[in-house]
Amino acid sequence: MSSTVNAIAATSTTDPLVRTTIERREVGPRDVLIEISYAGICHSDIHTVRGEWGRVPYPLTVGHEIVGHVTQVGTEVTRHAAGDRVGVGCMVNSCRECDNCRAGQEQYCLNGNTGTYAAVDRDGTVTQGGYSTHIVVDEDFVLRVPASIPLEAAAPLLCAGITTYSPLAHWQAGPGKKVAVVGMGGLGHMAVKIAAAMGAEVTVLSQTLGKKDDGLAFGAAHYHATSDPDTFDRLANSFDLIINTVSAPVDMASYLRLLRLDGTLVAVGAPPEPLPVQVFTLFGNRRSFAGSSIGGIAETQEMLDFCAEHGIASEVEVIDADAVNEAYDRVLKSDVRYRFVIDVDTLR
Ligand code: NAP
Ligand code: ZN
Ligand code: ZN
Repeated sequence: MSSTVNAIAATSTTDPLVRTTIERREVGPRDVLIEISYAGICHSDIHTVRGEWGRVPYPLTVGHEIVGHVTQVGTEVTRHAAGDRVGVGCMVNSCRECDNCRAGQEQYCLNGNTGTYAAVDRDGTVTQGGYSTHIVVDEDFVLRVPASIPLEAAAPLLCAGITTYSPLAHWQAGPGKKVAVVGMGGLGHMAVKIAAAMGAEVTVLSQTLGKKDDGLAFGAAHYHATSDPDTFDRLANSFDLIINTVSAPVDMASYLRLLRLDGTLVAVGAPPEPLPVQVFTLFGNRRSFAGSSIGGIAETQEMLDFCAEHGIASEVEVIDADAVNEAYDRVLKSDVRYRFVIDVDTLR
């Protein structure tokens, strides 16, 4: 039998999110029922509910940084058991047959992965995300959360963590590599911690120097304000890798010029507007302009284990369910230290 659970939903591009109830499907043979403890607030949730990325199937419950405990498993489940600490990120399924799924890159499923919210699920219903007390997910898309990471600090790893880990690993951030992180919000602060743990020399490029002490404490060696035009002259031709986490359009040419020979600028920030690039900017230093989307399931588990091994997790501000709208306003003002996480107990 399906069940009705408490949740928070958006009902239009402008109205505040409100308390509501949603349906969760019956636990199928390969499903896991999770009692959610915490759900992170990703800027993608805000882009989505405000309609910045396209049409929204309102009412919609967002949230794809989900952690909690397994309370029930289907008859064929082998990977998880009742009581396990688990997490769910941005995907809850994929086709499993295309070349990319077979390569463990389900996020790039050629038939479209099933997003944790606002996607059409295999039963034809619209998926609903983690700002809710429970979720039912296919066991293959459920991650194990290592015991050493506090649950609330683990939640943001399911999106902010993997979205920065994946390009850092792919472009081989490590000893001898100079990595710049643009924007030190939810994704950015994880990029700094992970790149530093990988052994890279990390520079933060933030709008101001207001969070400099934090950036250095997270492992950055250098911290510069992008509001200071000298920054772009001083750092020209210096980075192997730049991870751009900014949620708004920025002038790509200014950042591309900071790449040294064969350097790559990876866009992970997802403003709805195009980011124009002059090819001549790419000719200099044989630069690359790339993009990256979350990470595969195996890689997400690898990232969680990496964070446990290196003693890193997200810096979080835990909030009550009723403070979500205020938190959205603060994220939009870049006033976040460094991820809001909803205490889902306040929804019960
Ligand atoms: P966030 O916490 O709001 O962080 C974004 C940061 O960008 C801010 O803290 C701020 O950093 C900087 N920033 C914001 N507005 C700016 C502006 N107008 N000019 C310059 N800098 C600005 O957001 P998030 O949750 O980290 O998400 C960041 C972006 O990544 C969003 O667009 C989100 O949708 C996207 N995203 C993509 C993926 C993917 O798979 N590719 C996954 C998750 C999220 P400073 O204060 O340090 O300047
Ligand atoms: Zn996200
Ligand atoms: Zn596929």
